[in-house]
Amino acid sequence: YLRPLMDKKTTQIVKELLVKPQNIVVVGHKNPDGDAIGSCLGLSFLLNSLGHKATVLMPNDFPDFLKWMPGVDDIIIYEKETQKSLDILEQTDLIFTLDFNSLDRVGDLQKPLENSKAQFVMIDHHQQPAAYAVATYSDVSMSSTAEMVFHFIEAIGKSEMLSKEIATNLYTGIMTDTGSFRFPSTTPTTHRIVARLIEAGAESATIHQNVFDTNSAERLKLLGVALNNLNILPDYNTAYITLSQKELDEHNFKKGDTEGFVNYALSVSGVVFAVIFIENKHENIVKMSLRSKGDFSVNHFARNHYSGGGHNNAAGGKSSQSLNKTVTEFISILPRYKDELTHAS
Ligand code: 5GP
Ligand code: MN
Repeated sequence: YLRPLMDKKTTQIVKELLVKPQNIVVVGHKNPDGDAIGSCLGLSFLLNSLGHKATVLMPNDFPDFLKWMPGVDDIIIYEKETQKSLDILEQTDLIFTLDFNSLDRVGDLQKPLENSKAQFVMIDHHQQPAAYAVATYSDVSMSSTAEMVFHFIEAIGKSEMLSKEIATNLYTGIMTDTGSFRFPSTTPTTHRIVARLIEAGAESATIHQNVFDTNSAERLKLLGVALNNLNILPDYNTAYITLSQKELDEHNFKKGDTEGFVNYALSVSGVVFAVIFIENKHENIVKMSLRSKGDFSVNHFARNHYSGGGHNNAAGGKSSQSLNKTVTEFISILPRYKDELTHAS
């Protein structure tokens, strides 16, 4: 149907790994998003229908707006069921890591994964993949890992196994990672795949509703606070938002509530670089989401200054300074990037 995009060698290795029934664990990154959950669940439905025993394992919990997805009830969360997770890992021949490419992206699951004797397969679209897998399917041009799982299924010749459950999960992954098909990584092929997923049973209107129209009033009021805290630095075409732990607490913050807030900062006319700083007293860090338009690479920026990374136009990182200090430091770094920020298109 489509030109096979996973290369022949990787395809061959994966096919051989899947010749006989295996115990498989499918892992996503810490603070899993729609793409991590969707690609992991989609792949695990496929593997189970091929006769393997696949379990989806996530480092920690994920937002309620993803908790309707087919198969979510069977996801094991390491932070909540640590011993059970370790027992499952013990019985595992094969570990698929999806939507991340370095084992420091799974929080406390890092050591158990590093100590595992299983073989690894990576499917991922982030920059600079690490070399821990026997089969690495990495493509930074891809819209989403969910799109890559579709290519993976085609490459191993199992397109006929595309079920409603798989289609719904992959659709959700692609939809959330492309900002509903609007980011530049969305290609004609992405749209062709999405069409196939709808034909296979993904209900696009329902999926959009489940993800985007299930806000709590508290979340919207927190958005109000975030928008009030918006700061524009016109000299650097930069905008940032802060949220303190106190502000989060006052709005009964739940995981996922701040998802997408940073995009409002990026939507300001002329802004090419946007950041949200979210204080996390529990982990004693300030978590940052960075976004850009055009050539300015937030992946490099996050790697260089905030032990993070991601994509050219969407990345994350963290700081162990206070919220105020983090912001002051951030502003002090910007002059070094003035040329890039003011000449980016
Ligand atoms: P978000 O800002 O939505 O949490 O993440 C944006 C992108 O950057 C996602 O693709 C995510 O996987 C990645 N990302 C977020 N935080 C980190 C981090 O701390 N380190 C790395 N390497 N990537 C991150
Ligand atoms: Mn992704």
